[in-house]
Amino acid sequence: MIFEYAPAPESRDVVDIKPSYGLFINGEFVDGSGTPFKTINPASEETLAEIATATEADVDRAVQAARKAFGVWSSLPGSERAKYLFRIARIIQERARELAVLESIDNGKPIRESRDVDLPLVAAHFFYYAGWADKLEYAGYGTTPLGVAGQVIPWNFPLLMLAWKIAPALACGNTVVLKPAETTPLTALLFAEICQQADLPPGVVNIVTGAGETGAAVVGHPEVDKVAFTGSTEVGRLIAKSVAGTNKKVTLELGGKAANIVFDDAALDQAVEGIVTGIFFNQGHVCCAGSRLLVQESIAEELMSSLKRRLSTLRLGDPLDKNTDIGAINSAAQLAKIRELSSAGESEGAERWSPACALPDKGFWFPPTVFTGVSQSHRIAREEIFGPVLSVLTFRTPAEAVEKANNTPYGLSAGVWTEKASRMLWMASKLRAGVVWSNTFNKFDPTSPFGGFKESGYGREGGRHGLEAYLKEIS
Ligand code: NAP
Ligand code: MG
Repeated sequence: MIFEYAPAPESRDVVDIKPSYGLFINGEFVDGSGTPFKTINPASEETLAEIATATEADVDRAVQAARKAFGVWSSLPGSERAKYLFRIARIIQERARELAVLESIDNGKPIRESRDVDLPLVAAHFFYYAGWADKLEYAGYGTTPLGVAGQVIPWNFPLLMLAWKIAPALACGNTVVLKPAETTPLTALLFAEICQQADLPPGVVNIVTGAGETGAAVVGHPEVDKVAFTGSTEVGRLIAKSVAGTNKKVTLELGGKAANIVFDDAALDQAVEGIVTGIFFNQGHVCCAGSRLLVQESIAEELMSSLKRRLSTLRLGDPLDKNTDIGAINSAAQLAKIRELSSAGESEGAERWSPACALPDKGFWFPPTVFTGVSQSHRIAREEIFGPVLSVLTFRTPAEAVEKANNTPYGLSAGVWTEKASRMLWMASKLRAGVVWSNTFNKFDPTSPFGGFKESGYGREGGRHGLEAYLKEIS
């Protein structure tokens, strides 16, 4: 039964969106030389602001500023760098509400998630790496920074991906030039203001906005010493090619097609919650989303009926409403991709189901969707859909579950639901995935390394391991 409820929208007044934004270079906002572009609110299609485009020449200015700042920043004692990072972390906490509202407006994600997941994790990342800055000699990767890091991030967790990139880079003594995604630049630009507020020395953090070409200029710049990219496997391949044969150190965090595996002895109500978190969190715009549900045949019927009942209670709508579970799809282009792949699922013979769910008239929306009767050859079982769409497959034995779970070019994450610790450990040793969650899903912590196998990329972000990407190898 669906209850009537009173809307509880978070106030937009806590954030001041300017009509236009420049590039953040050498501690100041400056004009870009390219044609500006607009960022919109995907829940309403309203234009939020005009954003500068950085050309190759602008990127060069940013890299030169970062290069100059590197001398100063890398020679500060770690304990001094830590003070800046702690200060940034505290300001993020103080301005968390403002940042969360801005993230939800620009990205479309529910405020419940930006407020309770993204922002606490962003602050936690800065606190965590601030703690490492004066203890690098104990991490085992040396203490020498690389220089200028060129970082390119996607739109699904705009501020969180920024934190994953900037916090370890700065802690190790590097300086950065970061390009946010075209559809979600606003929180990165507010972060630039936070750098000013924290009195971070000019040039330590530079933010250049623009489309793919700006990203290509960042990673291709000859004076960038380190490339850190999170995004699609397709663009990751282009980047790997462009840096091949250079001395640049590279980490790539790419796509995924995770299996969420439920055994017949699992606590089913908990598993249902884990399946929902696995694929409907952030509208499924999650690289490690549990987009393939592998359920043991003997419980498939029971689990599917509980899952469908649960999905009928999800609330889709205004991202700023505190009741909302499912917000807007980030862009028209992403919505088109989800629609195309879902239609392919139907024409390939899978059975499509969605709960009764009214979609708002304006904006980009897709209802929670489940496909049953999916076989391994279907495109919806193989390709990353990056939307609120779950493909359900069944298995009989643990060996079959492992085989099916690993039957993908990706290897970012997996979930295993079982009461038996021995089975859990056996599964974890067999699954070719960077993260295996046990009786939970999509749990993140700055102390835990995250990264992929196979076409999901290479390198680790987070934890002690995350420092390695930003330090010179000890020879
Ligand atoms: P994307 O198209 O690869 O874009 C990622 C970033 O790269 C954006 O800033 C994009 O700019 C930029 N870019 C595009 N072409 C480029 C080029 N030739 N050279 C350099 N930069 C370029 O990915 P997306 O659609 O934004 O993000 C979704 C993907 O990210 C999914 O595949 C998801 O799995 C992956 N992801 C992975 C992780 C992980 O940790 N493994 C985390 C989150 C997301 P524009 O915005 O202007 O296109
Ligand atoms: Mg936007």
